[in-house]
Amino acid sequence: MTYDRLVCANCAAPVNEGRCPVCRANRARLQQEGPFGGGLNPMALIALLAILIAAVALLAHQTA
Ligand SMILES: [Zn+2]
Repeated sequence: MTYDRLVCANCAAPVNEGRCPVCRANRARLQQEGPFGGGLNPMALIALLAILIAAVALLAHQTA
């Protein structure tokens, strides 16, 4: 998620500039989410892994 265009509700300045404590708190929270922006959660990863294992097992069963 990009936050460079996000405007603070407290000081009406871009959150990216961190002019007030609210800006800095929001900026820190958004940066914590990382490059995936919280879109990829551990449950999704586990589900993806399970599908991958099932696909490999199915493929191995067909070729054997
Ligand atoms: Zn602010």
